Amino acid sequence: MDRELAPLRVLERPQVAAAVLAALLLHDRHARRRAARLDRELQAARAALTAQRAQAAELTRRLHVEARTDPLTGLGNRRRWSEQLMLELERARRSGDGLAVAVLDLDRFKQVNDRDGHAAGDELLQQVATHFASSVRSIDVLARLGGEEFGIAVPQATREAAAQVVERVRTGLPSGVTCSAGLAVWDGRESAASLQGRADAALYRAKSAGRDRLVVD
Ligand code: GH3
Ligand code: MG
Ligand code: MG
Repeated sequence: MDRELAPLRVLERPQVAAAVLAALLLHDRHARRRAARLDRELQAARAALTAQRAQAAELTRRLHVEARTDPLTGLGNRRRWSEQLMLELERARRSGDGLAVAVLDLDRFKQVNDRDGHAAGDELLQQVATHFASSVRSIDVLARLGGEEFGIAVPQATREAAAQVVERVRTGLPSGVTCSAGLAVWDGRESAASLQGRADAALYRAKSAGRDRLVVD
């Protein structure tokens, strides 16, 4: 044995060898326990991270929905409406199907607030929204554009069929409530803003002509 390894000669003594072996085994057992503990801690941290990621994703999803929902009626708000209208226009462009847009505004709604109070006005808006939602077809897009104004996008419909949808929506409102509507049919080229602008202008004509009617552009 060379000089460097000479000290290891002591291991040739059985008691020393046994003591060293015992110490090594003990060290090994501690090391394994520590490794197992670290492994458990790592797994727990991974599980916590996965749960946090899922929570963050759910929060993002909820924020996305809330930012597009009108809290009073539960309908889509103007932001959602704009997004859906763009999608419907894109779909109509691809399919060649028709698309119509209606804007509806309750008549003399300010009087309801003035006469019955704001809370009663809110309740009426909710009733109207429920009625609208149950009157449109499942493929139609309905939104509260603001105040007492609602939008309906009517895809896959002729001018007459779209007008029928709007007239069905306008009837059956709570007693004493009427609404005016403007309807415009997509010309196959114009932007969503132009289409909605024509529906708005038609609504304005419906109001000027005495309210409680549909004007088709
Ligand atoms: P017009 O027939 O010309 O549409 O008359 P209008 O009274 O319906 O229209 P105007 O724009 O003068 O008034 C709209 C009213 O709607 C005024 C506002 O106080 C009320 N309003 C808007 N948003 C809400 C709401 O969220 N809740 C309630 N209760 N009232 C609202
Ligand atoms: Mg109004
Ligand atoms: Mg209005």
